[in-house]
Amino acid sequence: MSWFIRKEKGINTPTEEKREAPDGLWYQCPNCKKIMHTREHKVNAYTCVHCNYHEKIGSDAYFSILFDDGIFTELDANMTSGDPLKFVDTKPYPERVKATINKTHLKDAVRSAYGKVNELDVTIACMDFNFIGGSMGSVVGEKIARAIDHSLKTRTPFVMISRSGGARMMEAGYSLMQMAKTSAKLALLSKEKIPYVSLLTDPTTGGVTASFAMLGDFNIAEPGALIGFAGPRVIRETIGKNLPEGFQSAEFVLDHGFLDFIVDRKDLKDKLTSLFKMLQ
Ligand SMILES: [Zn+2]
Repeated sequence: MSWFIRKEKGINTPTEEKREAPDGLWYQCPNCKKIMHTREHKVNAYTCVHCNYHEKIGSDAYFSILFDDGIFTELDANMTSGDPLKFVDTKPYPERVKATINKTHLKDAVRSAYGKVNELDVTIACMDFNFIGGSMGSVVGEKIARAIDHSLKTRTPFVMISRSGGARMMEAGYSLMQMAKTSAKLALLSKEKIPYVSLLTDPTTGGVTASFAMLGDFNIAEPGALIGFAGPRVIRETIGKNLPEGFQSAEFVLDHGFLDFIVDRKDLKDKLTSLFKMLQ
């Protein structure tokens, strides 16, 4: 039975002879598992060149995709959350916020900015899922409200890019108040006939879906995005029935009349521009 015993030492390659690709040079698509160059992936607006899977990206990437030459002015960049409820779960809320700020280099789950999009002045607020699941607390609500104020003041179209797990539990009632606040601000925008386009990305759920994300003059979504209020498990247990296939996907939500259209991220900038021209 010696045939499976390794008689000689295994293949050893000295470290200096090993050839490895530098970290971050290649991107593997989580959907089709194929590999592409990170540069190619970036140029393709962070979508897979093989299967068009839309990678989850944050405000940094969206701002560089949408604003001309990536140039913009950020609004309320340093606003951070308080701790109105003295909330403690596995750790005190202020500690969790501080740790997340250090990890993500973000101040909260939304960033807002203004600049030119195809030479048109536009105000954009974009959520970051990395920051406590893109949860909507008082900072998110306040920054969105102020971004809408900026749109009103400058009479520029407003774009909201949502990616959120819903309300921030650590701020409880204060989170829920943001739904009313942002909705009331959007009503002012509508009264002034300033265009508002809401882009729903993967995932957009909870109190965000139940407020500003569904209040656009156009509500549009990225392909395959999960869009819903409660999660599928909660709904299944509540109604006691199995859910249809593709339930809560952007395509399903579009079929059932809750969206205007689905937009490929590569076409987003031009689509937004034509919507603004149409609405102005
Ligand atoms: Zn792919």
